[in-house]
Amino acid sequence: MTFRSADIPGHEGFAAPVRPTGEPAPSAETFIGYQAACSCQWTDRRRFPATPEGAEEAEHQWWSRHAAPLIAAAPPSELVVKSNLLCERIVKLAAERPLAALTLLSQVESWQRTLLEQAVAKARETGSSWAQIGEAMGISKQSAHERFRAHASS
Ligand SMILES: [Zn+2]
Repeated sequence: MTFRSADIPGHEGFAAPVRPTGEPAPSAETFIGYQAACSCQWTDRRRFPATPEGAEEAEHQWWSRHAAPLIAAAPPSELVVKSNLLCERIVKLAAERPLAALTLLSQVESWQRTLLEQAVAKARETGSSWAQIGEAMGISKQSAHERFRAHASS
């Protein structure tokens, strides 16, 4: 059985049969237990028994140690699609009616800045580091800290 989330394409979790050495087992005869693994090549070192319960524990490890942290930083895929669509529509509007596009872009800019500051403050409140915030925004931790320190505690 494999597990996946639409928010992190390219990651399918599964319980991988392993040999005593920790390498993947090529056949059921040689396998002594399970470890959490993902289609992106991530594996967890922790070993679980070669039982259905062991497989379930390995799958839970994939979720809690690999998928959940990735999902925490991945926007829902339907919002990414809507955001890309909005961008495309504004590009088209700017070509046809640039003044209308300016009015709309000014509205977006006013709520976007407020929401960005609120999201940074919430991320800091819930324990995210400046490095994590910078990574989520595609900027350095120094840039994130300099830009938002006034809006977040510490
Ligand atoms: Zn993965």
